[in-house]
Amino acid sequence: MTNGIIMKGIGGFYYVKANGQTYECKARGIFRKEKIIPIIGDKVEIDIDLGVITKIHKRTNSLARPAVANIDNAIIVFAYKKPDPNFNLLDRFLVMIEKEDIHASICFNKMDMSDEVEMAEIKAIYRNTGYEIISASAKEKKGLDDFKAILKDRISVFAGPSGVGKSTLLNEIQPGLALQTGEISAKTKRGKHTTRHVELIELESGGMVLDTPGFTNLDVLEIEKEDLQHYFPEIDDLVGTCRFNGCNHMKEPGCAVKEKVEEGYISKERYESYKQIYLEIENKRRY
Ligand code: GDP
Ligand code: ZN
Repeated sequence: MTNGIIMKGIGGFYYVKANGQTYECKARGIFRKEKIIPIIGDKVEIDIDLGVITKIHKRTNSLARPAVANIDNAIIVFAYKKPDPNFNLLDRFLVMIEKEDIHASICFNKMDMSDEVEMAEIKAIYRNTGYEIISASAKEKKGLDDFKAILKDRISVFAGPSGVGKSTLLNEIQPGLALQTGEISAKTKRGKHTTRHVELIELESGGMVLDTPGFTNLDVLEIEKEDLQHYFPEIDDLVGTCRFNGCNHMKEPGCAVKEKVEEGYISKERYESYKQIYLEIENKRRY
């Protein structure tokens, strides 16, 4: 038996990378019976002679649409400008990723459109969250080494709104990828299309990335409101230190989280996101 990783799946075939080669495999019938569907990123055992996946190793995590497993890092990409960062949206991405128990990093692109002061203000919103933040300009080829470094030796996925430069960044890192960018082709007058196959790509600089322009699934409403605090690392650190047991850090007196917001340890923006998402979940539960 040989161990490998599923790079893509098309029409019932899985392309498994093992020993530096790609093998076209089918899944064993037993998986279908057990309703287990192999997905990209699955670490599998294959029988090379038979061309079948014989075992799927336990997943550390997974995301849906597109389905991918064993993600080491989700990189949330936003732009410093054009489009201006929507912090509430960024925090929703972080919450979704925390919920799936996936490590997250943040990348702000288009640093060529901003200045030092503004960039520092934006990064300060994420103080004491523990998230690694990198700045880049795909256009001016800045920060690309930092970007390569966070991609190295891991399986990464991108999340973020369209237009922030995810495809441009990836193309800069690996020109051969030729991902469609937001620029409309003069020849065909068409913008990006979404019918391409999703697959894991091995980067020459090390690491693997899912070659999709990013996840947009933001189902924060599936979260229980009591759990939300755990998905904001800087709030999670304070759980149990409020005056009341079971404090939800909304209107309760003696709330350590609110104190830390006033002291500036937690940013107002992050606390606002927390409250907004909390109320949304609460309101949804009333129906
Ligand atoms: P995606 O939707 O996130 O994949 O974004 P794209 O890669 O398609 O980029 C959207 C637009 O932003 C395109 O017009 C890019 O040329 C432009 N863009 C990408 N990176 C930068 C950057 O670092 N600076 C500037 N000024 N523009 C950029
Ligand atoms: Zn509290």
